[in-house]
Amino acid sequence: MSEAISEPPVEPEAGVTSGSDDAGDASAPPHKPRRRGSRGGRNRKRPASGAAAVETPSDDADPRPELPERMSENRPSAEAAERALVRKPQIGDSRPAPARSSRPSPGSDGDEAPAPARKRRRRGGRGRSAAARTAEAARDDEPVELDEETLERRRGRERKGRPVGRYLMCVHVRPHATQIAVLEGRSLIEFYVSRPQDDISQIHGNIYLGKVQNVLPGMEAAFVDIGTPKNAVLYRGDVQYDPEDVVEKGEARIEHLLRAGQTILCQVTKNPIGTKGARLTQEVSLPGRFVVLIPNSTTYGISKRLTDEERKRLRRILDEVKPANHGLIVRTAAEGATAEELRRDVRRLLRQWESIEAVAKRSKSPALLYREPDLAVRVIREEFNRNYRGVVIDDVALHAEVQEYVTSLIPELADRVELYDDDETLPIFERHHVHEQLHKALDRKVWLPSGGSIIIERTEALTVIDVNTGKNVGTSNLEETVFRNNLEAAEEIARQLRLRDIGGIIVIDFIDMEIKKNREEVLKAFKDALARDKTRTQVFEISDLGLVEMTRKRVSEGLVESFSGICPTCAGRGIVLDDSLL
Ligand SMILES: [Zn+2]
Repeated sequence: MSEAISEPPVEPEAGVTSGSDDAGDASAPPHKPRRRGSRGGRNRKRPASGAAAVETPSDDADPRPELPERMSENRPSAEAAERALVRKPQIGDSRPAPARSSRPSPGSDGDEAPAPARKRRRRGGRGRSAAARTAEAARDDEPVELDEETLERRRGRERKGRPVGRYLMCVHVRPHATQIAVLEGRSLIEFYVSRPQDDISQIHGNIYLGKVQNVLPGMEAAFVDIGTPKNAVLYRGDVQYDPEDVVEKGEARIEHLLRAGQTILCQVTKNPIGTKGARLTQEVSLPGRFVVLIPNSTTYGISKRLTDEERKRLRRILDEVKPANHGLIVRTAAEGATAEELRRDVRRLLRQWESIEAVAKRSKSPALLYREPDLAVRVIREEFNRNYRGVVIDDVALHAEVQEYVTSLIPELADRVELYDDDETLPIFERHHVHEQLHKALDRKVWLPSGGSIIIERTEALTVIDVNTGKNVGTSNLEETVFRNNLEAAEEIARQLRLRDIGGIIVIDFIDMEIKKNREEVLKAFKDALARDKTRTQVFEISDLGLVEMTRKRVSEGLVESFSGICPTCAGRGIVLDDSLL
């Protein structure tokens, strides 16, 4: 319907969108143990801090979990949100500087590359099993022959035969976990952990045949059994229905649309976090590399980030291949794609959908119909582009899998996927200084280059960040010292929020600045730094008490949580009471 759609209805966070193409996965049983991805060990039980000692550790078994956050929870008014939204870099923007000069050791090896600001996300792709492919299907998965000019445009930059790029991905495989570190220059900016048990918690993008357990008219929601330990939740707004099927006049109510025992096809849009169940939608979407297929929908849109001319070209091609009964959204990544590439992408997604439908027909609910690929493949699908100088993997089997995936989808970058040398004397994370940075990302206190520090404290409702100056105030005046310190803090806080994957409400207490212009500049530096975070953030004006309030979309429980448990001595309170004085 609408021509101008900014991005497909899937979030760009790594590891959260669906979109591999093949039927191979769809028939997998839901609980087959397999290495799966998450941004942390999300399925550990996490008792509420105060009640830790008394809470029974059985929330995983409770079929009636807490509702996920309402859409309005912790949300500002629409106007305030619009004002506060941190705008991501767009095509044509000059890219923000990757690192402040104050950073002790800026990565010199890739920083200068003035690569196009556009982030090209490669998506979709290959399923793991090659079973029963038709001849056409096999052909669709082979690399498209590209002319030299297109190839040249897409290839990564090189200097003296070595790939140049700001980013590097290091993948470290252990028997019980796979860890992925993303470095910008030499600075660790993102970290992912996947463990086998994440199968039941890292389910964003998966498609299920679910069974409605009960409908809660008062909550305008329904609990749906999708075969995971906790029931998932479907809100009224995410229910799809044909208005002609509804007898009642006016706004259709959820109890008229769904009934207990009913079988529905649904897709997870939000992982279960803590005690909250997964969130579902009935509007399924299958993201490919260039387009997103929305089955049984009339949606037809082209990313408005593309130029008018490019949109016209894409529409000319897609008008021919667009399936009659399904919707299509053309991603920004389609820019420059050839007609044959687009055709294959659409065909791949159609086949994927057909196989999902076929499995649904012969399945009994609850059943998993489509599963997202492994973490490493997902992160690479979402992230890997010509701005990466490489992906280094220290495991032979995973390297082969990723190499095959990249060769079929981004052949021009296949030579950037490397196996970490066995002869290297250092483990991969030490060689690339991931370890030490990871340890810092788990600390409460983070030092700033000029001697100041920030303290990060998480509470149940929000995260509080306190900024401190160093003892050494130097020769310049106090306002100037404070200003410099706050600038360093702004940069570091943005980095830590992303690296620690802290979501929800965040309150930052910068050191008070007298001069308005300095306050504005710190806020601007902070927003610029946040703009490089692909997770959505909003920053509100400085409050009367000098606090900066912000929100960051919650993707996971967070990095620290994935490496820790509640302290058994104080039950998470952080102090031990002296009983003898009570
Ligand atoms: Zn303790």
